[in-house]
Amino acid sequence: MNVAVLGTGYVGLSTGVCLAEIGHDVVCIDVDERKIDVLKQGRSPIYEPGLDELLMRNISEGRLTFTSNHPQGLRKADIIIIAVGTPQSDDGQADLSYLEHAAKDLAEHIVQDCVVVVKSTVPVGTNEYVKHLLLGQLKNNVEIKMVSNPEFLRQGTAIEDTMKADRIIIGSEDADASEKIQEMYRPLNVPFLLTDVRSAEMIKYASNAFLATKISFINAIANLCEAAGADVEAVAMGMGFDKRIGSAFLNAGIGYGGSCFPKDVKALLHTSKELGVPFSLLEETIAINEHQQKLLVDKALKRFGTLKGKKIAMLGLSFKPNTDDMREAPSIRIARAITAAGGKVTAYDPVATGNARKVIGDIITYVDSAVEAATGADALFIVTEWDEFKQLDVAVLLDVMKQRIIFDGRNCLEQVVLKIGCPIEYYPVGRPEVIIKDKKI
Ligand code: NAD
Repeated sequence: MNVAVLGTGYVGLSTGVCLAEIGHDVVCIDVDERKIDVLKQGRSPIYEPGLDELLMRNISEGRLTFTSNHPQGLRKADIIIIAVGTPQSDDGQADLSYLEHAAKDLAEHIVQDCVVVVKSTVPVGTNEYVKHLLLGQLKNNVEIKMVSNPEFLRQGTAIEDTMKADRIIIGSEDADASEKIQEMYRPLNVPFLLTDVRSAEMIKYASNAFLATKISFINAIANLCEAAGADVEAVAMGMGFDKRIGSAFLNAGIGYGGSCFPKDVKALLHTSKELGVPFSLLEETIAINEHQQKLLVDKALKRFGTLKGKKIAMLGLSFKPNTDDMREAPSIRIARAITAAGGKVTAYDPVATGNARKVIGDIITYVDSAVEAATGADALFIVTEWDEFKQLDVAVLLDVMKQRIIFDGRNCLEQVVLKIGCPIEYYPVGRPEVIIKDKKI
């Protein structure tokens, strides 16, 4: 099948390479010419495990091409997948301006009958709006059918999530269009859920809001555990054995970030307000998360009294491991809070430093290793649970630090710390702290 993907970001690119991998002829279109130039050379503009290999193979086998020229990209397409961004507006609702531009571009350059698939995360009613925009501006006499096909991939495991998805949601009022999209995905052998367009749109928000709420719930439990002298890891494990609850998304820490959960929870809350259906649970989910993102700074303030003149080594900048994405990463808020309180931050991340510089700027210092970050530090903040950090020789870090104090925002170092047996102060989230004293501390 001839597929065009409009928007070659985390979702569009992953989708494009995977559809090429299962045999389709795919053209990825983006308005960002620099991105397209990089991709044409067979290089990925984003860090995503497994992506480079598929990219190279499908380009060289002729199934995958890139262009910033819409007429060229859309010429043969019988399926067009829209995967442009839908970021958060100032008032919390989804900003549909990229989608509106995309609809305008399509209306101008579609030259044959096709199915237009909205993969971007969009509020209920948006597919109808896009269809209305498209039909109102169409230049050629063609038939357009719409399908809502929200995406569930996770950055860091995007390729695996696409190739082995839990389900594919296909929302359409047109049986032929629905069948065509099923045919496109059939080689993946993933279960389909066929539904109406509005339900498909809602499934995406309901899923993300539920997962974000699960994270905030366990974080609230973690804070209770700290006050009560319980251990949230044991509590989460005990809860997770219950099949009705499940063990996923019960890791206490410093909250969720990224390009999806924060904006999608706020967009759903906005929808609920617009429809006059109160959903205050989501307000709590957001409030708990904002509190949690400040947790390490609050703990450090409590420990030191002030952060003035303190050097904090921050390990991890990306919003989660295995991605270079800095959108809504807790590290941003933490870095700003430390510097506002008069502290200095030296940060290390395996891949996100370039993007972090653009967002956080030069208020902090970026270095090339964990040891470099820790040198002379009064405290170590674990902000992202990269595998590299879990395998660190913590004793080496402690040796170069000014004070042997660790605030672990991802509860990933305790096993290592317990084995060290030398003086240390270790503050996890929702678990008893480990304090081994000697005169140096
Ligand atoms: P992104 O910002 O990484 O990529 C969007 C791309 O669209 C950019 O490269 C941009 O240049 C391009 N673009 C904008 N307007 C265009 C136009 N008119 N024509 C062609 N290209 C255009 O965004 P993303 O993270 O891939 O997210 C895309 C959508 O998928 C969003 O709605 C998001 O909520 C949703 N989503 C994202 C994820 C994720 O993990 N990132 C997961 C599931 C769903």
